[in-house]
Amino acid sequence: SMTTEDVLRWLQQLAQVLQENREYLTQLDAAIGDADHGANMDRGFKAVSAKLATLTNADIGAILKTVGTTLVSTVGGASGPLYGTAFLRAGIATAGKQVLSEADVVVLLTAFVEGVKARGKAQVGEKTMLDALQPALDAAKKAGSDGLDLAQLLKQSSDAAQQGVQATIPLLATKGRASYLGERSIGHQDPGATSSWLILKTLADSCG
Ligand code: ADP
Ligand code: MG
Ligand code: MG
Repeated sequence: SMTTEDVLRWLQQLAQVLQENREYLTQLDAAIGDADHGANMDRGFKAVSAKLATLTNADIGAILKTVGTTLVSTVGGASGPLYGTAFLRAGIATAGKQVLSEADVVVLLTAFVEGVKARGKAQVGEKTMLDALQPALDAAKKAGSDGLDLAQLLKQSSDAAQQGVQATIPLLATKGRASYLGERSIGHQDPGATSSWLILKTLADSCG
């Protein structure tokens, strides 16, 4: 099961991981966007990190809602409202909980992905964060129904996200800034799919 301490550790480590990957995400966004995705994610999760100390008595839903509102107010661009909505929906789906079962974690991930879909109106295959998130959610659901434990469920989900990131390379972007490039978006890895994988990989690493 996943506890509030696991969630706080995840967010703390995620701020670190996004700082370490700031240049990487920026270079990916330089190729098919405006070279700010690394800075956007680093700024947002630094702000989240600064709030974590005030959240030690909060339940998981309240923590995730705070992450969502913090991202909306600090990130801007496309990814701010998308990840903001994802964390807000995840917080609503886990309201009042101090501990999450494997099934609850699938509910959390479902709400997260639904948030991105509701906000961005993208479909799988449009070269966005959804191309990492949807396979990750599908893998988590399958792992849950196969009765895998939380660590295995999150590992399968993170691995599926990583494969989804690789699969964005040949795609033509039809949503967001990268779509302005048309055919020239082909052959490049999507920055938002990459940050989505980092979010899920860090979650898997935090709940071992
Ligand atoms: P901006 O494009 O405004 O500079 P970012 O660089 O922070 O914002 O984020 C870009 C990422 O946002 C893209 O790589 C893509 O994954 C994601 N994205 C853009 N539009 C959408 C959308 N409609 N749905 C899902 N993800 C999207
Ligand atoms: Mg950008
Ligand atoms: Mg921008």
